Amino acid sequence: MRLKIIVSGIVQGVGFRPFIYRTAVKNRLKGYVRNRGDSCVEIVVDGGDEDIKRFLRDLIEKKPPLARIYEVITTPIESTGENYEDFKIYRSSDEAELSGSVIPPDIAICDECLMEMRDPSNPRYDYFFITCVNCGPRYTIIEDVPYDRENTTMRDFQMCGFCKSEYMDPINRRFHAQTVACPRCGPRAYLLDANGGIVECRDPIREAGRLISEGCIIAVKGYGGFHIAASTLLDEPLKRLRAAKHRRQKPFAIMARSLEAVKSFAKVSSWEEKVLTSYERPIVLLEKGENYYLSELISPGLHNVGVMLPYTGLHYMLFDWVKDPAFVMTSANPPNQPIIKDDDEALRKLRGLVDYFLMHNRRIAHRCDDSVLRLHGYKPVFIRRSRGYAPEPIRLRLKARSSALGLGGEKNNTACLVVGDKAFLSQHIGDVENLETLVFLESASKRLMRLTNSNVDVVACDLHPKFATTMLASRLSEEYGCRVLQVQHHYAHTAALLAEHGLNEIIAICCDGYGYGLDGGAWGGEIIFGSLNPLEFKRLGHLEEQPLLGGDMATRYPIRVAAGILYKRVDIEEWLMENSINLPHGLREAQLILSKLKRGDVRIKTTSCGRVLDAASAILGVCYERTYEGEPAMKLESAAINGRNVIELEPQIRGTTLETTNIIVSLFEGRKVYSRRDLAYSIHYYLARGLAKLAVDLAIEYGVKSIGFTGGVACNQIITDIMRSFIEESGLNFFVHEAVPPGDGGLSFGQAIAAAFSQD
Ligand SMILES: [Zn+2]
Ligand SMILES: [Zn+2]
Ligand SMILES: [Zn+2]
Repeated sequence: MRLKIIVSGIVQGVGFRPFIYRTAVKNRLKGYVRNRGDSCVEIVVDGGDEDIKRFLRDLIEKKPPLARIYEVITTPIESTGENYEDFKIYRSSDEAELSGSVIPPDIAICDECLMEMRDPSNPRYDYFFITCVNCGPRYTIIEDVPYDRENTTMRDFQMCGFCKSEYMDPINRRFHAQTVACPRCGPRAYLLDANGGIVECRDPIREAGRLISEGCIIAVKGYGGFHIAASTLLDEPLKRLRAAKHRRQKPFAIMARSLEAVKSFAKVSSWEEKVLTSYERPIVLLEKGENYYLSELISPGLHNVGVMLPYTGLHYMLFDWVKDPAFVMTSANPPNQPIIKDDDEALRKLRGLVDYFLMHNRRIAHRCDDSVLRLHGYKPVFIRRSRGYAPEPIRLRLKARSSALGLGGEKNNTACLVVGDKAFLSQHIGDVENLETLVFLESASKRLMRLTNSNVDVVACDLHPKFATTMLASRLSEEYGCRVLQVQHHYAHTAALLAEHGLNEIIAICCDGYGYGLDGGAWGGEIIFGSLNPLEFKRLGHLEEQPLLGGDMATRYPIRVAAGILYKRVDIEEWLMENSINLPHGLREAQLILSKLKRGDVRIKTTSCGRVLDAASAILGVCYERTYEGEPAMKLESAAINGRNVIELEPQIRGTTLETTNIIVSLFEGRKVYSRRDLAYSIHYYLARGLAKLAVDLAIEYGVKSIGFTGGVACNQIITDIMRSFIEESGLNFFVHEAVPPGDGGLSFGQAIAAAFSQD
């Protein structure tokens, strides 16, 4: 019998052809295997019926660990024509007929490679970019499909005889590993000084580690871009870094030398340990340990710290000459710009900021930031889904009617392509406020289409008329001759939750900072009904509207929000004047705020949950200025850890609105009586209980069994836990995001889902 087999999924760059080769030979089959231009693998086998049956079973059951098989299409073919003498790996073909396969994400160095790197008798001893068929960069080095060396940035390096012999050897684990390299033929590392001059040293990587330990700031080129590395024990370099990056408070991620080192300064649950050591190697937000001894400048005012483990040989080697438990490893990017990936760009943009550059001479085809997540118990919550995960698709329970591209909103953006029953989410793109990021968004979108061999029927974007992404959507729709669908922000969050769990309908509690409402208002604390038909989406309830004094100024300085709410019930003059030192223009500004309130001159109002948390944060003296997205609310959560509900205010629901004025006033009045921790906890409790109650009431009224929680506030564990227990006690199901970020990093997914399933 002779059979043609097409395998779709993640089957290129994961050792699939070598595996097929070995399996075919084992089963005495002749024929060939090859990669195709649509990221699929094509196989022809010729042999006995029983042998072919066993081959097909092995193909599914014994596939390589990183491979994902979506579909196996078999077609019997005539045994005439070409005669196969044995089984071969053929040259790849450009043929592309199927959509929906993709190449894998970057994979952390595997244990076997790490062992070889540490073995003085191994030819790759000390080689910082040691990889094999099971590990190494993929997504960040691929310029085109099929995944062959000449389509990657490894094509700049000619394999030496030794590497070639392993590459050609069917029983070697580097058989057809496209990233194979060694000290003789592969990428080299070198150290440059602040002016880009070469620093002569025998061991540039370990020398860089020593310099970091001593207090230098070093730009380190990795797989998907540049990091900025610094000591975690010394304050001086961190002060310097914060001043130069204009980043006063935003937490820095750190890379620890080992799991044991992590445990010396942070609490690590068994679930967190599993994620930290996974081959995706994300940054995990961990609670600081009792004896936390790293610099307070790493994550000021927060109870947690973002930690990752090394994921390349280079990272491991950085720690070899030093005793430091960890180094700061923050993405190198100018404010609101994508992570830096090119050497000349790094030298230009980081000049004056870093003392040295640790470079290597392999080009980065596509940038990719580190992923960030935290665990609520055993459930992962993505803050950012990027390296290690992108572009692996999220599988949907249903097949979409049309293929759709979602472009996200404005902050923390990603792109998402929905094709059939898969959603391909791009790497982290960032805040699309300037040209560089917008260009990155467009290229990442087109790359997803190219890698998956897909076209789009509809481009989805936000409802906000002035977002750059809205304009990009209309331009792309013209380019592709397809339609545009504008999806309301909180509808998109809700659609994301529906799709992720394969639900038909849901009542979603959707809480974040800001989303353009159907009425043009500033929404952000919403109860939304959603179903698979986007036309049925409906806003059922929301938080009380509160004044946003000065619009964006209020978002930046939460005292303004607090003043607007408090003014309705209490005399705030004394408090406001006392706190005027926390306003950029001091007393004068405080007086201006007061006179505006007296005149009733407040035009902008918001139902945002984030703004209520911000107001509480300012009243309790936790945070007076938002220097990064979500800062006042994040610090409020940190302040509330282990707190109690002392206010005991029952949720005040009027109609379908949860009131927020009284709880804010209660916090204000409770300041003299209760601890900051208990008050911080009380506002969490009130909002969580109140929103959950409102959602349960509405779910019963509408006969819906499932309630979900989405939006950026769903990263907050205290609120999520309280909601969960109340909703589950009510006999309803509670859903949160596990595969995509609840914040705006998951927005493009929801938009694309709404568009792909729309009836039009
Ligand atoms: Zn390996
Ligand atoms: Zn070599
Ligand atoms: Zn949002």
